[in-house]
Amino acid sequence: MSNATFEEIGKVLRDHQRFAILSHVRPDGDALGSQLALALSLQQLGKDVRVWNENGMLEKYSFLPRAELLTKPPSAAEDVDIAIALDTAIQSRLGTAFAAIRSAKIWINIDHHRSNPGYGDMVIVDPSAPATGEIIFRLIKSQDLPFNHDIAENLYAAISTDTGSFQYPKTSARTFEIAAELVRAGGLDVGKVSQQLYENYPRRRLELLRELLRTMRFSECGRVASFSMTLKTAADLAVLPEDNEGLIDHLRAIRGVIVAVFFEELADGKVRVSMRSKDEAVDVCAICQKFGGGGHTLAAGARVRGSLAEVEEKVLEEIREALKRRS
Ligand code: AMP
Ligand code: MN
Ligand code: MN
Repeated sequence: MSNATFEEIGKVLRDHQRFAILSHVRPDGDALGSQLALALSLQQLGKDVRVWNENGMLEKYSFLPRAELLTKPPSAAEDVDIAIALDTAIQSRLGTAFAAIRSAKIWINIDHHRSNPGYGDMVIVDPSAPATGEIIFRLIKSQDLPFNHDIAENLYAAISTDTGSFQYPKTSARTFEIAAELVRAGGLDVGKVSQQLYENYPRRRLELLRELLRTMRFSECGRVASFSMTLKTAADLAVLPEDNEGLIDHLRAIRGVIVAVFFEELADGKVRVSMRSKDEAVDVCAICQKFGGGGHTLAAGARVRGSLAEVEEKVLEEIREALKRRS
């Protein structure tokens, strides 16, 4: 798979009129921020832009500038010139947003997941980027596309969330340079954005954490930590799917833990598995790919059929094997 250049993508963006910008189901800050940033830039160019996600805009990200542009896809499919998938490792993770495109002349796939197979007609997959937002910034700047405060704030939110506030290993000098330019050129108030991102959680998120910690388990001499959420816990606390984003970091943060796992019982007979690693030699993307999922070396996920207990056992066994190979 060879990547398209920013110039080639830039030309296609300028030469067409009707766009749909999509991202993965259960979106995160990188997915939503990247979508809004690119959509706002294209709108400024006079383009006609749809911004769709299966789950629509999440309550927790509704502070993002021009958040109202992002909606659930319509039930009747539409024709567009260009469909753009952002931050989406496999096309099926576009969910109902994919079904809403009846036809597109060109599919563009811009992402940073190493497991991305390069679906679509024009592809930029850059696994060295810690966030899709970083790639969107470079596209906008290199092609001299419109840029303003609202675009900057969306990109800052995308990059801040996917780097764990500029902590994770793929955070580079370039990431800080981009963040600096977003703050400077976009006139951002970093404290205010961070407060909206990290100090504005609903109380039920912490109530959920309390329940998850009750299920916390360690194995492999403390090198693996996991916790689980049942459908009952989710219903009792009336949590939204987005409420658990980032809670796994509490497990990763424990001294000696190499792999952290979060198991979430889903209503469709599957379990959503979220995995984090602190060691490049333990590739959680490879582990999740065995279960049909994917992601990055140090952060990955999968949806696995089976009961909570069955999936826990199978997944923990694969992690045990991966740790054995490492040591
Ligand atoms: P999460 O644990 O949901 O935050 O996901 C961690 C990383 O793995 C993210 O970059 C996801 O996009 C990716 N990921 C999660 N679930 C899947 C899946 N089922 N298939 C492919 N990639 C996934
Ligand atoms: Mn994402
Ligand atoms: Mn991302």
